[in-house]
Amino acid sequence: MKKVFFLITLIILFFKAVLLPVSAEGEPVKVMSLNYDNSSSLVYITTKDTNSAAGEPQPLKYVGLSNPNRIYFDINNAVLIGEKQQLVFEKSPIKEIRLAQFETNPNIVRTVITFEEDFDTSKIKLVTVDGNIIVKVLPPAINNDYFNLIYDESAQKQEYSGINVNSQFIKKITVPVQETSENKDSVIGDIQQAFGESTLQNSDGKTYDEVMSVEISSGLKLRTKYYINQYIPKNNGLLVSGVGQISAAKMFYLTSPDRAVIDLPNTYLSRSVRNKEVNLCPDGSCEDVAKLGQFDFCTARIVITSNNADKYMPIYSQDSQSLFVVNPDKLNHTALTSVVSNINKAFVKKIDNRTNELILSFTEPIVHSIQRTDNSLTLYLFNVQSYNEQDLIKTLNNTYYKPLTLSLLPKIGVKAKMSGLSKEDIVKIEQSVDAKALKITIVKSKQDEIRALNDRPFRKKLKDKIVLDAGHGGTDYGAIREGINEKDITLDVTQRIEAILRSKGYKVSLTRTDDTYVSLEDRVAFSEAEVPEIFVSIHVNSAVSSDPNGIETHWYHDYSKDLAEVVHKHLVKELPNAKDRGLFKSKFYVINHTTVPAILCEIGFLSNEEERNELITDSRKQKTAKAIVEGIIEYLKGAKNK
Ligand SMILES: [Zn+2]
Repeated sequence: MKKVFFLITLIILFFKAVLLPVSAEGEPVKVMSLNYDNSSSLVYITTKDTNSAAGEPQPLKYVGLSNPNRIYFDINNAVLIGEKQQLVFEKSPIKEIRLAQFETNPNIVRTVITFEEDFDTSKIKLVTVDGNIIVKVLPPAINNDYFNLIYDESAQKQEYSGINVNSQFIKKITVPVQETSENKDSVIGDIQQAFGESTLQNSDGKTYDEVMSVEISSGLKLRTKYYINQYIPKNNGLLVSGVGQISAAKMFYLTSPDRAVIDLPNTYLSRSVRNKEVNLCPDGSCEDVAKLGQFDFCTARIVITSNNADKYMPIYSQDSQSLFVVNPDKLNHTALTSVVSNINKAFVKKIDNRTNELILSFTEPIVHSIQRTDNSLTLYLFNVQSYNEQDLIKTLNNTYYKPLTLSLLPKIGVKAKMSGLSKEDIVKIEQSVDAKALKITIVKSKQDEIRALNDRPFRKKLKDKIVLDAGHGGTDYGAIREGINEKDITLDVTQRIEAILRSKGYKVSLTRTDDTYVSLEDRVAFSEAEVPEIFVSIHVNSAVSSDPNGIETHWYHDYSKDLAEVVHKHLVKELPNAKDRGLFKSKFYVINHTTVPAILCEIGFLSNEEERNELITDSRKQKTAKAIVEGIIEYLKGAKNK
């Protein structure tokens, strides 16, 4: 735990290093345009360095000043192409960004960013990538999302999630572009071409620069959330770093050879590093190799080739700007960070009946990873050392996250495995900008519900157990004729069925045992909880006309048809005076939503005077009950012999 992990070190070195300005000789850097990405709060300064082959302006350091609260940084040996540039903001911690030729001898271009008085400028990050300068303002100044999406299984469908280009916050933009042919080679142009509208593809006869000017006049937005400019081996893993906010899609695997693939949506990979192979074990301890490529316009792809491909997982840095892909077995004695964090709060929001949102909050920024398999989600909280197990388990009870197993990993942190998931469920993980909270959203797939309904082997049914459902009850009278209520007949007959079945040793449960109201949902939930072999619902029919009479048996799922046939056969046999109206495939709620063979018997018509008078007699009720019992027993015996 004493080691300060390289991620933090690297980030600090990467972003905060004070590097000696080198006075460049020869051709100055051409500073071309000032842009603002309003989704990630990135200030983007496009340059074209004709001096060096690397095309990089000198590394930069910014200076903070007060009255007004502002920062500035100078680009040495640089000339501003065109006029002074300025962005003015409203309703933003950034008030203004100005770019101007500060001096001409020597040539210095100065950028000044003015902020609201209470804005903490110490969190600003300044980097140069591919000859361009990016200022990352944290927390996001305009996009007020407290959470950054870092893992997303719906990534393929994910649209760029930035705020509208024509942001209400930007009042005025003056960004002339005067250089013409060279723009095509600039990174900003590159990104725009990769992610921008088709009008930028230069296919409509317009010159690229005309199109670009049009675009800028309405406010420029990078069409990518993340820009990768480096990936290097570290501790037998791969460290991917860049600018913006990284997010990953669900990992998947390929064989021959074994490979793990992580797609990074909304990510642009610098051309200079594409498709370079990286040996993850330069010490020779493994043969694992990593490679990054631009998979398509919107997606960068990491491929790890390894015999242990399935063990690799992505670990996010606290600022979600770097990704460390590693086999955690290799991390056993390595602390990822020296900062110990504890879970101080966990709660679940039920968004709707398919969506649960788990929010974990921590005392300090956390370093974490996730491992998703087809039926589980495992969360690694690498620097969490303590938590209230009882509270956490209690919180997660009755959510999609259960069953949950928690374990403390020596020298690593906490591993929380949630096993109640299917591969069709969609998992999204967001991290707060201060890295002190994680939001895990699980959207249960409908597929899962459908499978539960149709896949009977999924259920462990209790042998010889029957759930009986007396239709209606309480305030729900069912059909009413001449002061006779359906709900009373159904309960009476159901209780007779119950009595006979019990006398023969069957286990019976009733969805209601008295004159109370029970919703259809609760009847199904009751039966599902009981897990019987079969479900039988008793109703009395009615019609507007007084003519119809007789008995009907309804089923819906194929697995219920046998039961319906057998029970109906006995009803017809036992009640020869009643008309046989036959079997019906009907989507009644209780026989549709129960996952065991389920039928609904309409044991006669209350609206038919003759049948009504018979239905209230002990004789008819008893014969009906006896017939249904005989049907049930024959069915259950048959099912047993199968
Ligand atoms: Zn009814």
